[in-house]
Amino acid sequence: MLPIERGLEIVMSVAKSRERPDRMPVESVPLRDSLRRILRDDVLSDADSPPFDKAIRDGFAVRVEDLGSIPVVLSVVGESRAGLAADVTVERGQCCEIMTGAPLPAGSNAVVMVENTERVSPNSVRILRGVRENEGLLRRGAEARQGELILRSGRRIGLADLGLLAGNGKSTVLVSAKPSVAVIATGDELVEVEETPKPDQIRNSNSYTICAQVEEAGARPAALGIARDDLDDLRRKICQGLEQDILIVSGGVSVGKYDLVEKVFAEFGVEVLFDKIAMKPGKPTVFGHRGQTYVFGLPGNPISTMVAFHMFVRPLILFLLKAENTAPKVLEAKLEAPAKCDPERAALVPALVRFDGGQYWIRPAPWKGSSDLVGLSRANALIMIPRRSGTLESGQNAQFLLME
Ligand code: AMP
Ligand code: MG
Repeated sequence: MLPIERGLEIVMSVAKSRERPDRMPVESVPLRDSLRRILRDDVLSDADSPPFDKAIRDGFAVRVEDLGSIPVVLSVVGESRAGLAADVTVERGQCCEIMTGAPLPAGSNAVVMVENTERVSPNSVRILRGVRENEGLLRRGAEARQGELILRSGRRIGLADLGLLAGNGKSTVLVSAKPSVAVIATGDELVEVEETPKPDQIRNSNSYTICAQVEEAGARPAALGIARDDLDDLRRKICQGLEQDILIVSGGVSVGKYDLVEKVFAEFGVEVLFDKIAMKPGKPTVFGHRGQTYVFGLPGNPISTMVAFHMFVRPLILFLLKAENTAPKVLEAKLEAPAKCDPERAALVPALVRFDGGQYWIRPAPWKGSSDLVGLSRANALIMIPRRSGTLESGQNAQFLLME
C-alpha cells in the first residue's frame, strides 16, 4: 500500500505537470477582505519606515554630549508631538519635549524618557539618568527602506501583513482567485442536518466539515448535497461536480456492495492514480483527475474524511493558490503515554497536546475510532504514528499536527 508521503507526491506531481500560467487567476480584493488570502504581488515598501527619525518614548530629545554629568538641567526649547514636528534645532544645553511617534528635532540624538526627568520650571527640566546615542528613538528607514521587498508573492496574508499592507497604502491587494471545490456526500443512510434521522439513518456531517476545510484552505466550496448509493444519482451529481476545479466525493469508496463511486469515476473517464493509502484512518482514499478537474474520493467516516482532506486535498489547494508553503505543518512533542505502531499503516491518532516547560507534551485522547467525532472534538491534535512494528514509548518524541 502507498505510504502517505508517496500519495502526496503523486498529487503534487500531477498538479505540477498540469500547471498552466492562466490556470490560477488572480483577483484584486479590498484590503479588509485579504486576510488568509495568498498574495500574488511582490510588495515593496512605498517609503522609508519609519519615514523620519522617530521618538519611541515620551520624554525629552537631548544631545548625549550634554549628559556628561548626571543630573543636569537643560532648557526646553520646544515641543515635538506626533503629527506636529517642532521647528527647532537643539543646541548645546538644550532639549525639546517630545512624544512617542513624533519626529526627532534637528541637533538631538537620543530621547530621555519622561520617567527619568523632573520638571524644574516651564522652560527647564532636570535629566536624572543618562542615555546612549540613539536610545529612545528609531532612525528613518530602520524597519524598511523605500523600495525594499517587504512581502513576497505566495505569502498567506497574516494579521501583521494586513497591517503592513495598510501602512503601505495598499487599499486593494492582488491575491489568487479561489479555486472552486464541489463537495458531494454519498449514502442511503444520510439525512440533512435539519431533518430527524429514522432509526437506521444518520445526519450528513461530512459536507459541513469538508466545506469548512475547503474554506480554511482558501478555496470556494460548492456543496452539491447528498447522492444516494445509486448509479444514476451518483452520475448526476458527479457530472455536475466535474465542472469545478476540484471534486470531492465522501463515502462510497470502500469495498462495500454499495460503494459505487469508483465505478462512476471510471464511467466518466476519471484517471485514478491511487485508491488506497497506508493510513489509519483514511485507507480508501481515491485520487485522480479528468480534464481540468482534480478528483478525490474520501472515505465516509467523519474522521477519515477530515484526515484525508488535510493530508492530500489541502496541500493541493495551496499549490493551486501558488502558496509558498503547501505541506501540513508538523510539530514535535514528547509522548506522555505509549502509542502502538502498525506495520501496515501510519496512524493519525486524536491526541491531547499541551505546552509546558518549553516543549510540547502529547498523549492519545480517548476515542472510539474513525467515526467518533465526540472523541475528536475533545482532542486538539493528531499524533503521527509511523508505519512500523513495535510501540512508541513514553518519553520518546513523536510528530503531530495541531488541530485548531
Ligand atoms: P462509506 O465510506 O460510505 O462506507 O461510509 C463509512 C461510514 O461513514 C458509514 O458509517 C457512513 O454512515 C459514514 N458516513 C458516510 N458519509 C457520511 C457523511 N456525509 N456524514 C456522516 N457520516 C458519513
Ligand atoms: Mg456509504
